[in-house]
Amino acid sequence: MQIESASSVPPPFNFLLSKGWEAVIQSRNPRSILRIPTPAVILLFALATPLLSAQTTHLDAQKIASGVWFLPGDASKGYCNNIVIEMKDYLIVIDANYPGRARELIHQMHQLSPKPVRFVFDTHAHRDHSYGNILWTEAGATTFAYQGVDDEMDRYEPTRWQTTAVEREDVRALNLTDAPRPQLVFHKSPFILRDSTREVQFYFLGWAHTRGDGFVWLPKERILCTGDAAVNGPRNKLWDANLASWPKVLDKALAFSPLHVLPGHGTAGGPEILIGQRDFLLDLYAAVKQQADAAKTPAQMTVALPAHDQNWTPKDLTQDVAITYTEITQHKPAGDIPHVWK
Ligand SMILES: [Zn+2]
Repeated sequence: MQIESASSVPPPFNFLLSKGWEAVIQSRNPRSILRIPTPAVILLFALATPLLSAQTTHLDAQKIASGVWFLPGDASKGYCNNIVIEMKDYLIVIDANYPGRARELIHQMHQLSPKPVRFVFDTHAHRDHSYGNILWTEAGATTFAYQGVDDEMDRYEPTRWQTTAVEREDVRALNLTDAPRPQLVFHKSPFILRDSTREVQFYFLGWAHTRGDGFVWLPKERILCTGDAAVNGPRNKLWDANLASWPKVLDKALAFSPLHVLPGHGTAGGPEILIGQRDFLLDLYAAVKQQADAAKTPAQMTVALPAHDQNWTPKDLTQDVAITYTEITQHKPAGDIPHVWK
């Protein structure tokens, strides 16, 4: 591998390649932007120094394939799931999680591998997936995301950070006034990390749960990490979504033909998670549209979804019906309509 123009790239990104690849890195306080054309392929060197220290508690990691682990998050603490992917010389962690969980993972990662965490990918901008960013950075990793994640944070922060800091000690304890953004963003999908052992592809497939939903695809192992674009259970929120587009994004994800689907919340499984999330959204949209067309308001609606949606249907559908109704009757994505996260 050759490195060209490394002197024009500011540290800590001067280990990034690029024979044949145009990498333009612009400094932007407090973060930097990485623009890479499609197909974006980056080969990476490992740092020699392990960055994470040992501790005694135990990770409840499920091995999905050789060097790929699914780490269920504690729902009672609001944590999302994490996925750890082992490369030749380093680890990739999917989602920064909340600060409390990020700290646990940083201290316990040695249970999986002595290799350093080099990259942390934010699947989307929501607090339970990104608010631990700064802790990973302090531990020596580089956080990154699709550009849409950065855009969502600029759109909704620092309001959500400040609201969350009132509710949560792990966020408040960081003493920050705004959400730390991912350090790098990519603009063209897919963005690829590859070495002699594995290839990992990072995709943006369209506006679904948020404007920036990132999917992680391991083509050899046929493993797909979905963030909250697909969850396993009645755990989703629709406020920032595009409900008309979301099922189409899930169809694109299904077209990968994954063997394993690792969701942002709920247990790991297979393509039935993508199908179930999609069908719930389609059925919800159709039911609300039918009654809206009959001039019913959300308060007048009775929405009963088919039995196959049961796993994705919350006990109280009131909020989902109201958001769907708003998108249908205002003729624009729910996330485009002014709203407060609840
Ligand atoms: Zn989440």
